[in-house]
Amino acid sequence: MAVTEIAPLTAPPDLTGEHRPVIVVGGGQAGLSMSRCLKKRGVDHLVLERDTAGHTWRNERWDTFCLVTPNWQCRLPDFPYSGNDPHGFMVRDQIVEYLDAYRRFVDPPLVEGVEVTNLTRDDRGVFRLVTTAGECTADQVVVATGGYHTPITAPLSEPLPGGVVQVQSKDYKSGAHLPPGEVLVVGSGQSGAQIAEDLHIEGRRVHLVVGNAPRVARFYRGRDVTDWLDEMGYYDMPVTAHPRREAVRAQANHYVTGRDGGRDIDLRAHAAAGMRLYGVLTDHREGTLHFEPNLTASLDHADEVSESIKDTIDKHIRERGVDAPVEDRYRAVWRPEQEITRLRLADTGITSVVWCIGFRQDYRWIDIPVFNGRGAPSHARGVTAVPGLSFLGLPWLWTWGSGRFSGVGRDAEYLAERIRSQRGLTTVGGRGDVCNVLALGS
Ligand SMILES: Cc1cc2nc3c(=O)[nH]c(=O)nc-3n(C[C@H](O)[C@H](O)[C@H](O)COP(=O)(O)OP(=O)(O)OC[C@H]3O[C@@H](n4cnc5c(N)ncnc54)[C@H](O)[C@@H]3O)c2cc1C
Repeated sequence: MAVTEIAPLTAPPDLTGEHRPVIVVGGGQAGLSMSRCLKKRGVDHLVLERDTAGHTWRNERWDTFCLVTPNWQCRLPDFPYSGNDPHGFMVRDQIVEYLDAYRRFVDPPLVEGVEVTNLTRDDRGVFRLVTTAGECTADQVVVATGGYHTPITAPLSEPLPGGVVQVQSKDYKSGAHLPPGEVLVVGSGQSGAQIAEDLHIEGRRVHLVVGNAPRVARFYRGRDVTDWLDEMGYYDMPVTAHPRREAVRAQANHYVTGRDGGRDIDLRAHAAAGMRLYGVLTDHREGTLHFEPNLTASLDHADEVSESIKDTIDKHIRERGVDAPVEDRYRAVWRPEQEITRLRLADTGITSVVWCIGFRQDYRWIDIPVFNGRGAPSHARGVTAVPGLSFLGLPWLWTWGSGRFSGVGRDAEYLAERIRSQRGLTTVGGRGDVCNVLALGS
């Protein structure tokens, strides 16, 4: 089934002069979860989405995309995955269907096609939202605009030749959308590793710039590693208890895949089968790409992290006396013979580059001093020091799953409960319809 475009049915209403107790900015899984949690507490609110609900899953994933996390971890508030493959990995169109079904279930007071372009708070503590459909106000605002805003590209001395097509991971669909020829994939985090593999499986010659992202095995000792980590309580650990504390928020995700029922991504095996691997890309000058001589170290590091996770699982099995089959450890199937630090583009058939080196958060539209020196919001479990302003859906906002399907619901319940008690509402549940009386464009 092809992914369908859900366009707003009507032009957005004029929001000029509208006031709501709560306005949620963003209609992805976080915004919809927030709406559900506010609605069941009888808190009147509005959700503003600049595109369509679930837009990023619909439009910013590649054709063969599937979840890296198992389906059972899809547990949006009051709407857990209910299909017959809890240990499988939904493909893109199934994820979109899950979100569309959630939207129907929540029936949020949602206005699509409206972007919030400026957010301020006046002297009386009222939030002013300048939107593409007029200026409105709110007593409280929940920012649920995702954690991946502006794609990053490496700063190079000279631009790549004009003939080389460059795309960002969020715009990559498949090799069919790239010109014939070899492809340079820059970055080996979750997206880069999967996109490189996608092209490699398609038969393209792939050059992959490997960064310091860790990897994790898909299965170990008879179970998905996710299941073991869940049993060990890892997904309940708050950021305040993590050994790296808030620094973990900037950590690259471990690469692994849900493709073909789930398996490891072994870059060494891909290299043995013809994929070209390099260390970190540092520059492009006079037609030559320059790389750091750190490929060996990066591959070793990724394996070490994966093996250390297995050590932790072994310890858990031992201490709990769990009956689990013994499994041999990973053996490297390929090692770089030498570090390649230069590559003349003219000596390759590279015709396109896919950038997968991450995203920068972009909150320039918020004129309220709640950001740290790196432009990220300062908060405790999403609650900022500015009364009434919260964030939801960010990686490690509270737990590992906060920026994912598994943990966003727990955070939404927390924020909604705070908002309910601040507003002096006592009824939890039972008044869920109150918002729809006020629904605009949903
Ligand atoms: C490549 C990739 C793979 C992932 N794989 C998994 C996985 O396997 N499992 C998992 O659980 N999670 C995964 N995630 C993480 C997470 O689930 C997604 O990022 C998810 O989209 C986050 O949902 P969200 O609602 O927080 O943000 P988003 O989906 O980004 O939604 C934010 C919404 O806000 C809107 N918006 C932004 N700014 C404004 C504005 N100023 N005004 C109005 N609207 C605005 C946007 O249009 C968007 O629709 C993955 C993420 C990526 C990028």
